[in-house]
Amino acid sequence: MIKPSPTFKALEHIRHELAQLKARGLQRSRRLLESPQGAHVRVDGRAVLSFCSNDYLGLASHHALISAAGAAAQTMGVGAGASHLITGHHAVHHALETRFAEFVGLPAALLFSTGYMANIGVVTALVGRGGEVFADRLNHASLNDAALLSRAKFTRYPHNDLAALETRLTASRASQKLVLADAVFSMDGDLAPLPDLLALCERYDAWLLVDDAHGFGVLGPGGRGALAHFGLASPRIVYMATLGKAAGVFGAVVAGEAEVIEWLLQKARTYIYTTATPPLLSATLLASLDLIEAGNGRRTHLQKLIVQLRAGLCIPNWQLMDSPTPIQPVLIGSNDAALAASQRLLERGILVPAIRPPTVPASSARLRISLSAAHTETDVAQLVDALNSIHADG
Ligand code: PMP
Repeated sequence: MIKPSPTFKALEHIRHELAQLKARGLQRSRRLLESPQGAHVRVDGRAVLSFCSNDYLGLASHHALISAAGAAAQTMGVGAGASHLITGHHAVHHALETRFAEFVGLPAALLFSTGYMANIGVVTALVGRGGEVFADRLNHASLNDAALLSRAKFTRYPHNDLAALETRLTASRASQKLVLADAVFSMDGDLAPLPDLLALCERYDAWLLVDDAHGFGVLGPGGRGALAHFGLASPRIVYMATLGKAAGVFGAVVAGEAEVIEWLLQKARTYIYTTATPPLLSATLLASLDLIEAGNGRRTHLQKLIVQLRAGLCIPNWQLMDSPTPIQPVLIGSNDAALAASQRLLERGILVPAIRPPTVPASSARLRISLSAAHTETDVAQLVDALNSIHADG
């Protein structure tokens, strides 16, 4: 019998920190989703109009994808059973990589389990000690974590400030340089100036990793994403798209030069040392790419909803951020005010999350509205009315 010691300082510390988070209104909690994703969902036992998924094209519960998943489960089973480099690399994973590379117009692609893992795998494979990573201050957490894990020098620059980035690139003595960019910033909805970033990468001999988690499926002709939107191509670009957002399923693909993809296959630890995703997901994603490619109607509808929302809001003390994408944040400032606004929307049956630090910078708590092609104009009109009247009530 092991005798318990009277004190356990580390656990005491965690209890104290949790109490602090709660006292400061920063404790995060989860809601229980009890329906498929869509404009109208059941959450915590009640029906709500939801503006908080990244299912931008409304594909997450599309009947064609549900059928594809069901049929694939029948023929492929449900588990991959091993990592890709052992026996888990199914023909359908391979077919998805080939189709994705062709779709985005890049030479080769590699399927990762998640965008988080893809970013960690790519950054740590491309740079190490002696290298330097340059990152926009508003980049996604997974890119920051990847930079820290790489052991390269980690240099951040103010949001979309190209002059500041150039100053840092000029000063760098690193042997390998890598610029990390969210193509669409996940909490602001604005775009990175990718052509300018690429020009700087050319001038200072750096890689450019483009994280298109929120652009793929939405931006560019046929939803081909941010590179297609800007008409960019370069062997310096490593392109990452996540497949759990507009594509409606799960996973992430990295695409680029064939040698870069081969290098990732050899070196990216988050690719090598993990079980392959269920093959049925890749089968479903092949069907999803078809829907994305044929989805101009969905994208046009989404664009109309963005215009409708922006034109309808009358919220002078809050700030509608300068976003052309389905991510339409309303900047409120204080955590309490953002939480209160989210709560009052919920009382009206509308779910819009309040996003607080550390996900966003201090004093910039906001409502993060995300629009989807699954919404109707009536849904958006309801949101506009609710926001305008909550704002007017103070
Ligand atoms: N990059 C960005 C910009 C993201 O917003 C996210 C997801 N929130 C990720 C990467 C991670 O992707 P995944 O959810 O597939 O891990």
